[in-house]
Amino acid sequence: MQAFGLLGRITVASTSKSRAATSRVSSISRHFSSTPANMVPISKETDYLVIGGGSGGLASARMAAGKFGAKAMIIEGSRLGGTCVNVGCVPKKVTFNAAAIAEAIHDAKAYGFSVEEKKPFDFTSFKHKRDAYIKRLNGIYERNLTNDKVEYIHGWAKVVGKNEVEVTADDGTKQTVRAKKILIAVGGNPTPPPANIPGAELGTNSDGFFDIDTLPKKVALIGGGYIAVEFAGMFNALGTETHLFIRHKTFLRTFDPMIQEGVTNEYERLGVHLHKDSVQTRIDKAADGKLTIHYKDAGGEGTLEGVDHLIWAIGRTPATKDLGLDKAGVEVDHKGHVVADDYQNTNVDNIYALGDVCGKAELTPVAIAAGRRLAERLFGPEQFRTAHLNYDNIPSVVFAHPEVGSIGLTEPQAVERFGRENLTVYSTSFTAMYYAMMEQEAKGPTKYKLICAGPEQKVVGLHIMGLGSGEMLQGFGVAMKMGATKKDFDSCVAIHPTSAEELVTLK
Ligand SMILES: Cc1cc2nc3c(=O)[nH]c(=O)nc-3n(C[C@H](O)[C@H](O)[C@H](O)COP(=O)(O)OP(=O)(O)OC[C@H]3O[C@@H](n4cnc5c(N)ncnc54)[C@H](O)[C@@H]3O)c2cc1C
Repeated sequence: MQAFGLLGRITVASTSKSRAATSRVSSISRHFSSTPANMVPISKETDYLVIGGGSGGLASARMAAGKFGAKAMIIEGSRLGGTCVNVGCVPKKVTFNAAAIAEAIHDAKAYGFSVEEKKPFDFTSFKHKRDAYIKRLNGIYERNLTNDKVEYIHGWAKVVGKNEVEVTADDGTKQTVRAKKILIAVGGNPTPPPANIPGAELGTNSDGFFDIDTLPKKVALIGGGYIAVEFAGMFNALGTETHLFIRHKTFLRTFDPMIQEGVTNEYERLGVHLHKDSVQTRIDKAADGKLTIHYKDAGGEGTLEGVDHLIWAIGRTPATKDLGLDKAGVEVDHKGHVVADDYQNTNVDNIYALGDVCGKAELTPVAIAAGRRLAERLFGPEQFRTAHLNYDNIPSVVFAHPEVGSIGLTEPQAVERFGRENLTVYSTSFTAMYYAMMEQEAKGPTKYKLICAGPEQKVVGLHIMGLGSGEMLQGFGVAMKMGATKKDFDSCVAIHPTSAEELVTLK
C-alpha cells in the first residue's frame, strides 16, 4: 500500500488485507477482459464509499465501520490525513511553535537570561524533522483505518453514476466501485494566482510553503486571510524580511474590526512590511533566481527585488472540477462548492458532502464533527436519526502574532442582527503581565471584546487578541454553546494573575 511524502512517494507497511484486495482486483479485471474498453467493470461493492481521506472523510468512514459495523471504504489519491495533516494545521502549528520559541529566546533577555545564539536557526533540520513527523502521522492514519476495518484504496476517484465511482491507481489501472451511499469529502486546493499577472506562476502557494527547506532572507506573501497572515508572522519572527501584500488597509477582514485593526497595527510594529491597497502588475525572475515584484500600492508604483519566495495565499478552491459530479446530478454552486444542507445531504438522495468542499466554516474540527454526526445518522441506532452538526458559534483561532480567537458574531454582524440599541459591547485593551520586564517598545497588545444582546445580555460575540488566546478560547466556546450571559461570565471567579481573568471582570 502506498502513501505519498512531501516530495515523492513513501512506502508504508502494506496490510495483508490490501494485498488481498489488489489481487482480487486483477483477477476481476481478467474475468471481465471482454468488457468494452470505455467501460470499467465493477470490482467491489460497499455500503459507504468515502471519497477523500482527509479530516472529514477519515472521521466519517472510521465511525461508520469501527463503531457501527458498516461496510465502508475510503479512496484517497494523495496522502492520508488530507490538507490538515500534510499541508495545513499540523505542519503550520509546528512552524508556529518554532517562531514562538524564537520570540521567547528574544524575550528571555528582558528577564535576565544571557541567551547567546551561536548559530542561526537550523531551518533545514527543523523542516526535515517536521516532514518525518508528518510521515509518521500518515502511517498512523493508515493503521487506524485497518483497525476500524475500513477498506482503503489509494487512487483518484471520479463519480460515474449515482451509485458508482471509478478509481484510477497511480499506474493508470482503473476499477469501478458500486456503493449504496457516497460521501464527497474531497476538500480543496490553493486558488491559483490570477492569469492576467505576467510571471504570477513564478510564485508558489500554501502547499509550497511546506517545501521550503532553507530559511529565506526575503519573502513576499499575497493575501489577507488567515493563511497569509499566519505565514507572514512566522517568517517575521524567524528573522526573514517579510512583505505582505493586501488589497485593503487591514487584513483578516472576516474578523471583528478590533481584531483587524489590532493585528494589522501590531504586524507593522513588529516590522512586517505591509503593502496596503496593493495589486501586483508583473513578476520577473532575475539571473540569480530571485524574484522581482512590480506592484501598485497606497504609496504609488513600486518594485520589490531580491525575493526568495513569493507565496500566493488568496483563497482555496473546492476539488470538484474533475470529480464527475454532473454524472450523478449533484448540485454545485458557482464556485464549485457542493451544495449540502446542515445534515450534509446533497440534492441526490444517497450522496452526501462535508468539510471544505462545501465551503462552510473551512476548519478541521468542523469536517470531523460533521463526518461523525453523518456516520451516526446513517449507520447508528435510532436515537441518532436526526444527528447533525450545529454550525452556530464555531470557535476559530488565527495563529498570528499575537494569537487571535473568535466565536460568534462580529460587532457589525451583531448590529445588523439585533440593532445597535439592543446590544451592549464590553471591551478592554491592556498590557499582559508577560511584558512586565520589557521596555515599553517591546510590549505587545492584548485586546478583548464581548458583544451581548438583549436585556439578558446573552453573549453573542467574543473576540480576543493576545498571548495565549488560542488555548484560552476553547473553554469560552463551551460557555457560549451553553448560552452564557454576561451575568454568567461575571459569576465565574477570576483566575489571577492571568489575561483571561479580564473576560470575567469586564465593566
Ligand atoms: C495552510 C493551512 C492551514 C490550516 N490551518 C488550520 C488550523 O489551524 N485549524 C483548522 O481547523 N483548520 C486549518 N486549516 C483548514 C483545514 O486543513 C481544512 O479545513 C480541513 O483539512 C478540511 O478537511 P476536509 O476533510 O474537508 O478536506 P481535506 O483535509 O482537504 O481532505 C480532502 C482529501 O481528499 C483527497 N481528494 C481530493 N480529490 C480526490 C479524488 N478525486 N479522489 C480521491 N481523493 C481525493 C485529497 O487528496 C485530500 O487528502 C488549514 C488549511 C491550510 C491550507
